[in-house]
Amino acid sequence: MSERVSRELFLGFIRVHILHHAAGEGVFGLGLIEELARHGYRLSPGTVYPLLHDMTAAGLLHAEGRQVGGRRRYYYRATVDGRRVLAEARDKLRELVAEVLADPGCE
Ligand SMILES: [Zn+2]
Repeated sequence: MSERVSRELFLGFIRVHILHHAAGEGVFGLGLIEELARHGYRLSPGTVYPLLHDMTAAGLLHAEGRQVGGRRRYYYRATVDGRRVLAEARDKLRELVAEVLADPGCE
C-alpha cells in the first residue's frame, strides 16, 4: 500500500478518535498529539491542526478559545452533528471489528 493511501486510511481512524474525545471532555491540539502518541500515532501539529480546522468547518466540532497561562488555547467539542456521526461510526466500527478481527480469512 502506498504511503499516501495508508495515511488516508489512518486519518479516518484519527478523525473518529478525535470525535470520541471531543464528545467527552473536549480536546486541544497539543493534548491530542500526546493522546494519539499513546495509541501509537506520531502526528505533527502540521497534521493535527488542519484536521481540527477541517472538522470544525464541516460542523463536526465547535472551537472555543480559553486563556491558559497567558496564552489563548482552543478547545474543541463535538457538535450535535459530530455526535451523530460518532454514533454512526461506532455502529460501523463494531461491525468492522467483528468481521476483521474474528475472521482474518482473506489475509
Ligand atoms: Zn484516545
